[in-house]
Amino acid sequence: MNVLIVEDDDRIRSFLTKGLKAEGYATTVACDGDEALALADTGGAELDLVLLDLGLPGTDGRAVLRHLRARHPQLPVIILTARDDVGSKVWGLDTGARDYITKPFEFSELLARIRAATRQVAASTELTAADLRLDIATRTAWRGERRIDLAPREWALLEFLVRHPHQVFSRAQLLSHVWDLEFDPGSNVVDVYIGYVRRKLNEPGSPPLLQAVRGVGYRLLPLDAAER
Ligand code: CA
Repeated sequence: MNVLIVEDDDRIRSFLTKGLKAEGYATTVACDGDEALALADTGGAELDLVLLDLGLPGTDGRAVLRHLRARHPQLPVIILTARDDVGSKVWGLDTGARDYITKPFEFSELLARIRAATRQVAASTELTAADLRLDIATRTAWRGERRIDLAPREWALLEFLVRHPHQVFSRAQLLSHVWDLEFDPGSNVVDVYIGYVRRKLNEPGSPPLLQAVRGVGYRLLPLDAAER
């Protein structure tokens, strides 16, 4: 699940990014309204939710919200702003924001509101690969009838691989996409987490869904019943 954070305050942007990543969310950031609109319109980020500040340099948050509602009506937007007057709240909700949170805010409450906002689009946020099913809204994985509990980072790794089946990723690419590290910390963290997730996914008698490709990296290879 990819959250677009639209926030011009460096400190808050960094706090949100770190906090959401720690919970296993992927994040994309925009420092102003124009950048947010460009990211939404190119669609390259495959966004699932937008956290939108209203007071932004350039194109302000109100214009961003109107544009998102017109062009991306399915994309849930949560306004996160210091503007706590009733008029702004009414305007935001009437214009199509899914929720409205005022700063300062409690991070646990923000997480609950993100879960609530995405639960409403749950039907369109299910990923599958063979008999593996990921419910993005509740962040629950199932293999057949078996529920699989995953830690936040395990979830982030699996979600990333399920979104790109068959594609082989190097350790460096996984570090960058899942851990947001542009350097190898010199540990075998990727291999360790692949091991954790693989053990949880493992079904006796079925081929492993997560495969190591010698000398290259890892991939998720969904085999349907006929290929087994
Ligand atoms: Ca601001």
